[in-house]
Amino acid sequence: PAAPETPYLSGLNPEQRAAVETLEGPLLVLAGAGTGKTRVLTTRIAHILATGRAYPSQILAVTFTNKAAREMKDRIGTMVGDLVEGMPWLGTFHAIGVRILRRHHELVGLKSGFTILDTDDQIRLLKQLLTAENIDDKRWPARLLAATIDGWKNRGLSPKDVPAGEGAVFANGKGGTLYAAYQARLKALNAVDFGDLLLEGIRLFRENPDVLAEYHRKFKYLLVDEYQDTNVAQYLWLRLLAQGSKNVCCVGDDDQSIYGWRGAEVDNILRFESDFPGAAVIRLERNYRSTGHILAAASHLIAHNEGRLGKTLFSEGDDGERVTVTGAWDSGEEARAIGDEIEALQRAGHPLSQIAILVRASFQMREFEDRFVTLGLPYRVIGGPRFYERAEIRDALAYLRCVNSGSDDLAFERIVNVPKRGIGDATLKQIHDVARAARVPLQDAVRVLTESEELKPKVRSTLRGLLDMFARWREQSRVLSHTELAEIVLDESGYTEMWQKDRSAEAAGRLENLKELVRSMEPFENLGGFLEHISLVMDVDNGAGEDAVQVMTLHSAKGLEFDTVFLPGWEEGLFPHQRALDDQGKAGLEEERRLAYVGITRARASARIYFASNRRIHGLWNSTLPSRFLDELPDSHVKVEESRGGMGWGGSGYGGSSYGESRFDRAGGSFGSSSYSTPGWQRAQSQREGGFNAGAGNVGAGRGGARGAHGSTHGST
Ligand code: ATP
Ligand code: MG
Repeated sequence: PAAPETPYLSGLNPEQRAAVETLEGPLLVLAGAGTGKTRVLTTRIAHILATGRAYPSQILAVTFTNKAAREMKDRIGTMVGDLVEGMPWLGTFHAIGVRILRRHHELVGLKSGFTILDTDDQIRLLKQLLTAENIDDKRWPARLLAATIDGWKNRGLSPKDVPAGEGAVFANGKGGTLYAAYQARLKALNAVDFGDLLLEGIRLFRENPDVLAEYHRKFKYLLVDEYQDTNVAQYLWLRLLAQGSKNVCCVGDDDQSIYGWRGAEVDNILRFESDFPGAAVIRLERNYRSTGHILAAASHLIAHNEGRLGKTLFSEGDDGERVTVTGAWDSGEEARAIGDEIEALQRAGHPLSQIAILVRASFQMREFEDRFVTLGLPYRVIGGPRFYERAEIRDALAYLRCVNSGSDDLAFERIVNVPKRGIGDATLKQIHDVARAARVPLQDAVRVLTESEELKPKVRSTLRGLLDMFARWREQSRVLSHTELAEIVLDESGYTEMWQKDRSAEAAGRLENLKELVRSMEPFENLGGFLEHISLVMDVDNGAGEDAVQVMTLHSAKGLEFDTVFLPGWEEGLFPHQRALDDQGKAGLEEERRLAYVGITRARASARIYFASNRRIHGLWNSTLPSRFLDELPDSHVKVEESRGGMGWGGSGYGGSSYGESRFDRAGGSFGSSSYSTPGWQRAQSQREGGFNAGAGNVGAGRGGARGAHGSTHGST
């Protein structure tokens, strides 16, 4: 094609430009945080489109979250305008995986309209299997089985591929059998789980070379962001597709690999060159995101890891602010101090959306949420199933799923007696028996039953009423928008009323959440699209466009950037997380350190780290030790501050290494006689200790107390 207008290329540095213009053949961009990897991918797509090398539908682009996909689409749009038109194959592995499965469902034994199970459904299904096999759910919890199966799926192993030794681990040798039974159950339900979206895709391609060839012809260019976090299944899936055009471009940073606990393998980066012979490798070294102090602090920290490919990083901006470290008395004070700082930033004119709080574990969020509600500070929880995992949301979704599909048994089971309608376990069993005997979905079984004399008249009329409602809603769904429909469903089912009558403290919040759910449906074209989105969302915006503080886990902050980043909870046991250390030892510690690196490098201008000396866990106070990562931050780029939420601790400032092996007194036990040699904030801590101790009794549990107390999920995404 004739030389196109390329204004979007002119802002790039030479390496970035090379990465954008090296379009033929495999390319790996290996570079540190904030060097423009994502920007390169986006510009590359724009370039492909603008030069007419491919249609939007011929580009496969994989992002780590749905949010990232949306952002990428927007950015491409600003560069090439309408040319972007949709890009049907821009999305997460899962989103693209499900799209492919939907097109060829019959080849992998699924019927059209198959459902995607969420974790909750998955667990309930596994529980049923365990009961059927007479396996004690206490001894062998369904959650453990779910994690085991997920692990296999992440590694690309279907039941027949599971090594015999591994299959034997669960329930005295029943693991492999249960996995197979679970897969059979899924098929019977016309359902897949998350792992299947790729695993079944791989099977589809392997068993149907003609289908694979079709995609080889289709995808002229393939691009993958955050390549360091792909797991084996994703890798195999991608490699199958990339064997076509071979124009595959992966960008990643080994220092930001933070999903090892979920099966991600950094080795995929190392394997790239051998898998794709002749691959070009481009390194980017200039960081455009963060100021000098922030970048230096992060680089020093990550240098403590041994298993690294190693990279140079520099920034050309000014040094900016040092990274601050602030000690707080307890998590409440930490939340107050951060709340105060945010209010001050807000008064100074900083947009709240440019302020993020990145936590290690999601339980930490509650304290901030409480505080922000008190202050009237708008905030939004990003990333996590948090909002959609709430019971009321799940119930509401189950209703919508039933409307959407007459064969969604799990959803039907969930709501058949919510609100209470007098449908007991005995009736449910009857329904199940009929469904099994006739091999029909539960809703059809109910219809059969209500036409017989088997049920008590009252139950029969209740169930008939329920079916009639579903029929009516389905009818209405043709004329009403899906949001109107949702409101009607929630009202007419009695579900909203159930919470209106509820006198518990949370009821009001639940009603608000239900409203929020309806609002969240607006951007979608129809109910099906919305439900599909729900089953895929890993990052959820649960609010309208209001300017709000962004609260999320470190894991979901990957790839994002903010002017100001608060990093609370840098304490031993919480961060690094005890579970990571227990489960994976040194590898776990290194992954935690990479997470710290990801956290600090999200900040453009200001990174503010906090630790609390006391945390209440399960109602008990535990004293905690400052994180070892604090000691790994270089003195010259860090400033130690007083907490503003406290009583004016006499912190005369900076401890520095002259205080002995740790300026955060991790080594000596944070409470006790060593206070004479500690810097100001710890003296203050010790001074307060007496009173606190007397009141709470168990402060000073010391290290042991802090260990293992944070039972929340490892990744907490
Ligand atoms: P991460 O590893 O955190 O995902 P990344 O390598 O993907 O980071 P980007 O998010 O693409 O980095 O870029 C970081 C920031 O630097 C963005 O705000 C981006 O717009 C900006 N940036 C990248 N390249 C340039 C450039 N050549 N000129 C100006 N700004 C740039
Ligand atoms: Mg990026």
